[in-house]
Amino acid sequence: MLDGYAREVDYLRVSVTDRCNLRCKYCMPAEGIESLGHTKILALEEIVQLVRVAARVGIRKIRLTGGEPLVRRNITALVAQIAAIPQINEIAITTNGVLFADMAEELKAAGVTRVNFSLDSLDPDSFNYITSRGKLSDVTGAIAKALALGMAPVKINTVVMKGINDHEILDFVKLAKAMPLHVRFIEFMPVGDLPFYQTDRMVSVSEIKAIIEQQYDLYRGLAVQGNGPARCYQINGGLGSIGFISAMSDHFCSECNRLRLTADGKLRGCLFGKQEINLKMALQNGASDEKIAHLFSKAIREKPRCHHMSEGWGADNKRKMYQIGG
Ligand code: SAM
Repeated sequence: MLDGYAREVDYLRVSVTDRCNLRCKYCMPAEGIESLGHTKILALEEIVQLVRVAARVGIRKIRLTGGEPLVRRNITALVAQIAAIPQINEIAITTNGVLFADMAEELKAAGVTRVNFSLDSLDPDSFNYITSRGKLSDVTGAIAKALALGMAPVKINTVVMKGINDHEILDFVKLAKAMPLHVRFIEFMPVGDLPFYQTDRMVSVSEIKAIIEQQYDLYRGLAVQGNGPARCYQINGGLGSIGFISAMSDHFCSECNRLRLTADGKLRGCLFGKQEINLKMALQNGASDEKIAHLFSKAIREKPRCHHMSEGWGADNKRKMYQIGG
């Protein structure tokens, strides 16, 4: 279905939980979160029902995210039920990878086609600092497993933060050269009001590119499947690719094709917007599939033209990334 700016919206990102097994400093408060609890989050059957209705209004691709999607109980069963919806032709997961290796085969068998791993450091100590509790080897093991299972393309999302991991940019490039991995450098965004976000910690895509271009020629490559907003480049002899997500410095809203469903059942047209439609409440009030389809259409029709993050809307928006599903 086309939105008010002639963008075809066919992609729904579903946050299946607000809980996470890591505490990345840029995403979740260090003291942890007050979890929403069973009654507030969407039940798995509700998620399946909503995806089925979303498919009727043109949604074709689903990404499961969170929080950490793999901490949600019965996530594999959810994947299988979504995969059984005929119009859905792609199910991807964004994960920190910690639990992935042990679940990889069953996720693939259930219907996960692609995985994006979030990884901000290749140094064990720095990884542990950023995530507050993670073990790097769990994530590298998970990435190896995804590659071994042929879940291509395997992508790595790296949020670049000045003074935290910007000195590792070339190490990530080396990784994308040596292995068939698609590293996407992401600009640090002021989502929610976390004190860890500081304007001067943001490294722009043009700064990241300049660092890489001191050592490598970057040339525009073929788009990597499902690469969404990333602008994709290749380096000579590289097995993987390098992508840039310039959410702050050069936003890509004109190509935005997605809606977001939060773990507590709110439908959002923009990661940084304030407008939400409460689908959980609609379901609880006994809304028919027709009514829900109408609400999906309304969210698509009213999808904002672009975000206003750099004008402060990101910080102003109290919802943090783990709550919306990054
Ligand atoms: N737990 C999963 C994971 O780690 O991939 C999924 C949820 S996480 C919120 C999704 C993505 O959002 C991650 O790649 C993370 O790096 C990104 N993210 C979170 N906060 C961010 C911020 N302030 N700026 C940029 N990206 C952010």
